[in-house]
Amino acid sequence: MARLAQARVRVEPRRIRRFLGEKQLEAVELEDGHRLPRRMIFLKPRQRPVPLVERLGLALDEQGFVRVDDHKQSSMPGVYVAGDATTPLQAAIIASAAGVTAAAIMNHALTVEAALRGETSR
Ligand SMILES: Cc1cc2nc3c(=O)[nH]c(=O)nc-3n(C[C@H](O)[C@H](O)[C@H](O)COP(=O)(O)OP(=O)(O)OC[C@H]3O[C@@H](n4cnc5c(N)ncnc54)[C@H](O)[C@@H]3O)c2cc1C
Repeated sequence: MARLAQARVRVEPRRIRRFLGEKQLEAVELEDGHRLPRRMIFLKPRQRPVPLVERLGLALDEQGFVRVDDHKQSSMPGVYVAGDATTPLQAAIIASAAGVTAAAIMNHALTVEAALRGETSR
C-alpha cells in the first residue's frame, strides 16, 4: 500500500457493485452508488483449482496452486500436474515446458515399471 501511495496510485477501497455501459464500459458503480467514469478496466479474477483437483484431494500450496515436485508429480503418486494449475507464473511457454517435463518423467516411470514387470519394448 505504501509503495502504491508512493507511486501516486490511488487505492479505491469501496467494493464494486456493477459495471455500466451498453456496448462499451462507461462507468464503475461502487457499493455506495458513487460512479467512477471509466472506459477500461484490468481484472485479475481469483483462481481456484478445477473440480478434478478438488475431487482427487491433491495437496495445494499456500497460494492455492497444486503442489508438485521437480518432476511435476503431485502429492498423489502417479498423478502429474503442469502449467497454470501449479504456478502463478502463467505463460504459455512455461506451461508447455512443464508439460514436456511431466510427459518425459511419466514416460520414464512407465518404462521402468514395464521393465520391472519383465516386459520388453521394441
Ligand atoms: C486472457 C489471457 C491472455 C493470455 N495471454 C497470454 C500471452 O499473451 N502469452 C502467454 O504466454 N500466455 C498468456 N496467457 C496465459 C496462458 O494462456 C496460460 O499460461 C496457458 O494457457 C496455461 O496452459 P495450461 O495447459 O496450464 O492451462 P489451460 O490452457 O487453461 O488448459 C487447461 C485445459 O484443461 C481443461 N480441463 C480442465 N479440467 C478438465 C478435466 N477434468 N478434464 C479434461 N480437461 C479439463 C480446460 O478446459 C483447459 O482446456 C493468457 C491467459 C489468459 C487467460
